Amino acid sequence: MTEEAKKLPVRDDLKDLHPYGAPQLDVPVQLNTNENPYAPTRTLQKAIAEAVAAVAGTLNRYPDRDATDLRKDLADYLGHDLTAANTWAANGSNEIIQQLLQAFGGPGRTALGFEPSYSMHPLIATVTSTRWLAGTRDGDYGMSTAPRQVKHHQPDVVFITSPNNPTGTSVPLDLIKQVYDEAPGMVIVDEAYAEFRRDGTPSALSLLPGRERLVVSRTMSKAFAAAGTRLGYLAADPAVIEALLLVRLPYHLSTITQAVARAALAHKAEPLATVEALRADRDDLVAWLRAHARTVADSDANFVLFGVFGDRDAVWQGLLDRGVLIRNTGPDGWLRVTVGTPEETAAFKAALTEVLAL
Ligand code: PMP
Repeated sequence: MTEEAKKLPVRDDLKDLHPYGAPQLDVPVQLNTNENPYAPTRTLQKAIAEAVAAVAGTLNRYPDRDATDLRKDLADYLGHDLTAANTWAANGSNEIIQQLLQAFGGPGRTALGFEPSYSMHPLIATVTSTRWLAGTRDGDYGMSTAPRQVKHHQPDVVFITSPNNPTGTSVPLDLIKQVYDEAPGMVIVDEAYAEFRRDGTPSALSLLPGRERLVVSRTMSKAFAAAGTRLGYLAADPAVIEALLLVRLPYHLSTITQAVARAALAHKAEPLATVEALRADRDDLVAWLRAHARTVADSDANFVLFGVFGDRDAVWQGLLDRGVLIRNTGPDGWLRVTVGTPEETAAFKAALTEVLAL
């Protein structure tokens, strides 16, 4: 927070925080925020425009505050015999996480995550006055000690990000079951990148039956190529959603957001076809980086964490100087690159080759 802002009577516990700030720079190749690089097709653009036109005449009224039709569509998309009563939607999965922490975290409560992981989990915990417990990972970013850490800390909320950001690694379902069995409170599996996982990596959705403290959160920002729409959602026991109704703001999800999300879901085959291409390109990129003597974390996501650099800032800047923006995040010495179009990935490889004189 700036010195000017600190002069305001702002909460003491916010004063040393920094706002989320992945750079939004106008450069030719943007591979830093894990978006799907493929814009909606003309057909989908038309369907979205028609969906918005169809509700434009109703905008004098508040939206359906329970987003029932959208939640039914999301349940159908997820499968696993889920219904609208098992799903909930909000403005991005960040808002989903915020609502979960408002309901199940808060003053006097704790949330545990296993770092390195998604930087917004601790930030949202802190702004909801939930004490953040920074758990650890194995050397290869695995989570073999997670059940023990949960047993030790007895947190009110546990975050498991799978596939994890920024490492790209996934968590075996057996481990999630063990964490759940040790956890006294809610276990949130953040599956923002689920659609990109490699064959044979299951989703935690299959664990939901009989586990009423388990939540699986998802987003349309990544695979669905709809980051600008702001639509995140979760699947859980209906009782979890009843609790969230207490903390959500009335009419939090606009009529337009609901209409656009439903149009995208109705045309899901188009964005999901790009996911197939991105998964293959991701595997190629991992192989290319390894062939060039970089250490690369296994990735089930649409990005790749690679290293290890003595001066990662210099590598990041060298790429930026060549018009390629990636993310200098994660453990010391590592960098994260989002899988782009073949042209963007080629530009990244060419720039990295120059920077490192590979
Ligand atoms: N979870 C994870 C692991 C993420 O990486 C992100 C975005 N980077 C989100 C949640 C939030 O995404 P959104 O709010 O766009 O759904």
